[in-house]
Amino acid sequence: MDDQEETIENCRLHVESLLARKGHSGLQETSYPSRSLNFLKRLQGTPQRFDNVPNYTHDASSQTALPKEATIKLKTIIAGAGLGGLATAIALRRRGHEVTVFEKATELGEVGAGIQVPPNSRRLLMRWGLGPYLEGKAVEPEAIHLRRWQDGKVISLTKLVPDFEEKFGAPYYVVHRANLQLAMYELALSLGVCVRVNAGVRCYNAEGSGVVLENGEVHHADLIVAADGIRSEARRVVLEERDQPPQQCGYAAYRAMVDVDLMRADPELSWLLDVPGQNLW
Ligand SMILES: Cc1cc2nc3c(=O)[nH]c(=O)nc-3n(C[C@H](O)[C@H](O)[C@H](O)COP(=O)(O)OP(=O)(O)OC[C@H]3O[C@@H](n4cnc5c(N)ncnc54)[C@H](O)[C@@H]3O)c2cc1C
Repeated sequence: MDDQEETIENCRLHVESLLARKGHSGLQETSYPSRSLNFLKRLQGTPQRFDNVPNYTHDASSQTALPKEATIKLKTIIAGAGLGGLATAIALRRRGHEVTVFEKATELGEVGAGIQVPPNSRRLLMRWGLGPYLEGKAVEPEAIHLRRWQDGKVISLTKLVPDFEEKFGAPYYVVHRANLQLAMYELALSLGVCVRVNAGVRCYNAEGSGVVLENGEVHHADLIVAADGIRSEARRVVLEERDQPPQQCGYAAYRAMVDVDLMRADPELSWLLDVPGQNLW
């Protein structure tokens, strides 16, 4: 039994034990009005493939070795093409699942600022084949300096180069969120993921395992992944009254992007650009 089969088997046993606790005797009698776990029933018979799953094609020059294809191919809908949604799309597609991502925004834009990609995430992203798509867009800071805000004196230093690559097998990267999102988007497309922008999910049909888009289109899938961010609608559908929406905590965080040419021209700031680095005051 490989990792995936073991995961599915554990999932099946878990569902069966939940059903048993509720007095049901098998997967045929789901205790909730959902078809989302139908694929588990298929596992009880001979493994079979879903119809209409497109051929898995990829550009060998830009992808790293693909993992073993999934035994059962799922038709998957992902709501949200943020970092979470696109990462999930890539991971699922690499196993051969059919993936459609619905994104509310009219385009994938310039939202956000620097995203730190530590070695553990970077190793994963590179294994997925993101390297060529990030070419020239990521910065490898030499160190993280924590500085006293009154006078800029260094009070803590974390050396990143070469320490992180030596210790953790990959460097520490910083990349603009928009570049990371675009790179993931391009990789997802190259793998055969369908990404539709201006296609917000209006509501989720828990009974029919489907979604209704803002334009009225209805789509069904074996698996629906909600990656619709901090104000997630889907979370409310799953958690119902237990959902805890974001709370105002009374703090505010501001951030800004500054043109590097302006920094270079300012004697008080130009030294920050001498070597790539992270400075926190
Ligand atoms: C200031 C700051 C700094 C951060 N720094 C880092 C860092 O250094 N490293 C790091 O790893 N993480 C960092 N994070 C966290 C990281 O940015 C988030 O965890 C991550 O972006 C969340 O991704 P997501 O896909 O879950 O949500 P989002 O990026 O919010 O994406 C959600 C997407 O869903 C779409 N959407 C919403 N509703 C719908 C709908 N109904 N239908 C369809 N689409 C919908 C939205 O338009 C959006 O595109 C930082 C976060 C902040 C705020």
